[in-house]
Amino acid sequence: MQIEDKMAVSIHYTLKDNAGEIIDSSQGDEPLVYLHGTGGLVPGLEKELTSKAVGDAFDVTIAPEDGYGVRDDSLVQEVPRDAFQDVKDLEVGMQFHTQAPDGEGILPVTITALKDEEVTIDLNHPLAGETLNFHIEVIDIRAATKDELAHGHVHGAGCQH
Ligand code: ZN
Repeated sequence: MQIEDKMAVSIHYTLKDNAGEIIDSSQGDEPLVYLHGTGGLVPGLEKELTSKAVGDAFDVTIAPEDGYGVRDDSLVQEVPRDAFQDVKDLEVGMQFHTQAPDGEGILPVTITALKDEEVTIDLNHPLAGETLNFHIEVIDIRAATKDELAHGHVHGAGCQH
C-alpha cells in the first residue's frame, strides 16, 4: 500500500533547524497519525510523503514557502495591555492561541515585547520563515474510515469523541 489521499498515515518524524538543533520529534513517543491530502501537514511534507510505503525512511528539506510560510511583518501588532488582563505575569516569549479573524482555525500568538501600556504580539507561526529539515519514517498506512473523512481528521488516541 502506498500513501495517497484519504489514507490515515502514521509517521515518526524529527524536525531540525538549519543549525541541526532538534525543534520537535515524535521519537520515543507515539507516532504522528494524520489524514493524507487534507492539509494536516505542511504542504512540502505531504508532497514528499505521497507514494511512500510502510518502512520507507527519508530526509527532506522544506523551504518556508512549502512549510509554515514566510514571515509577514504586518502580523506583528501592538495591542493594549488590557487585552491580556486575565494573564498573570505576562512575559516576552509567552505563547497563546486565538481564533483567526476569519473564524477559520486557530492562530498562534507570541508575545515579543512589553511596554507599560502596550503588548507587541506576533501572529506569525513560530516556524514561519524557517527552513524545515525533516527525517521521516513511515510506520503505518491504512484507508481512512468514512467518519474520519467526514470529519477531516483521524480518530483514535487523542480524538475527543
Ligand atoms: Zn472526528
